Amino acid sequence: MVYQRSSALFAEARKYIPGGVNSPVRAFKAVGGDPIFVKSAKGAYLYDEDGNKLIDYIASWGPLILGHAYEPVIEAVIEKAKKGTSFGMPTEVETELAKLAVNMVPNIDKIRFVNSGTEACMSAVRLARGYTGKDKIIKFAGCYHGHSDSFLIQAGSGAVTFGSPNSPGVTQGTAKDTLLANYNDLESVKELTKANKGAIAAVIIEPIAGNMGCIIPSDGFIKGLRELCTQEGILLIFDEVMTGFRLGKGGAQEALGIDADIVTFGKVIGGGLPVGAFAAKDVIMDHLAPDGPVYQAGTLSGNPLAMSAGLAMLTELEANPKVFKSLADKTAYLHKGMEEVLVKNGVPHQINRYGSMMSVHFTDEPVVDFASSAKGNNDTFKKYFHGMLRGGVYLPPSAFESYFLNDALTYGDLDFTIKALDNIVDELK
Ligand code: PMP
Repeated sequence: MVYQRSSALFAEARKYIPGGVNSPVRAFKAVGGDPIFVKSAKGAYLYDEDGNKLIDYIASWGPLILGHAYEPVIEAVIEKAKKGTSFGMPTEVETELAKLAVNMVPNIDKIRFVNSGTEACMSAVRLARGYTGKDKIIKFAGCYHGHSDSFLIQAGSGAVTFGSPNSPGVTQGTAKDTLLANYNDLESVKELTKANKGAIAAVIIEPIAGNMGCIIPSDGFIKGLRELCTQEGILLIFDEVMTGFRLGKGGAQEALGIDADIVTFGKVIGGGLPVGAFAAKDVIMDHLAPDGPVYQAGTLSGNPLAMSAGLAMLTELEANPKVFKSLADKTAYLHKGMEEVLVKNGVPHQINRYGSMMSVHFTDEPVVDFASSAKGNNDTFKKYFHGMLRGGVYLPPSAFESYFLNDALTYGDLDFTIKALDNIVDELK
């Protein structure tokens, strides 16, 4: 495949945008080479500036659960745009989306919309601090909750891909209030709660992690966290920016059968437009301004275009929950097909999968936390990524990311992907 025009556009972008991108993982630094510039997308396919067609496994990092340019979403946005793009005043569509989300997700009474997952998580933590009157939070190594200061402590996703899990610019003062535990290691959380008795406002976790590859919580881990938090008067925050409205109508809370105290959303809830949200029971949400003292605001929050896209997307998912099973079945099929190729050819690997999230690590050891995820062979990963790209398959350009399947993918696309792996597997030995 030829990527001349993408490379030229990247060179031009680098002159005016730091690193040529507006979010680091896009730059392909982890895998080398120039990033691909997208011209358009439809269904399961990306069309780049050089005229190449690629099967897309990132779906804009999750939101496009029904595929790109999904007709009802596009129509809703166009119709809304004709009536004005932003007012900074209340609109009915905000309540419509809020009502639908509150009905779909267990255990929440109210939801506040923001513009990104970062804002959602940052605001959720402020609310937890305001509600409990405590300062410290616990997060897990390798989990990513956006780029707000408190979370850039052993963060996953692009932060670890680029070697800045603890970013310069985050003050010591902020860092000392973020305590670090290990995923799938309840003891590490217990030790922190014991050493910081009465000082912890919240534990924030990706209930199924997607930012160190896909990591599945071991039996009893999340349940144990729930019990510990209840016992210690700590709020449990589920960061469902990836899992919300993807694993099922009720996200990870429903999938795992565990109630969180605050839930954060992003991605799917905006149908691909910039939206995030956080939600909880009234007793917690009533602490937010304007009814309560915890301040949180946004000029473009509840933006009518974003709300109408989210409403169109969630309406579809609510009406057709079979989508979640269909997505999980497709992901299982891909998993099985890719595994067969790798096993047959003796390539050491781990494929982790939960619902429609999945990742491939090139290591012999089970990948259960950040340390084991980091043991994956990055040279093999690079060959894998570029080999698949040559074969017409676009995967996340870092092993510290999850694949997100979309329901426009056909079994033919999945077979094509498995075949693409078979074609390049010799390079991975
Ligand atoms: N939380 C999780 C679990 C995420 O995966 C992300 C982004 N990938 C965020 C928060 C931050 O969201 P955003 O990039 O929209 O700020």
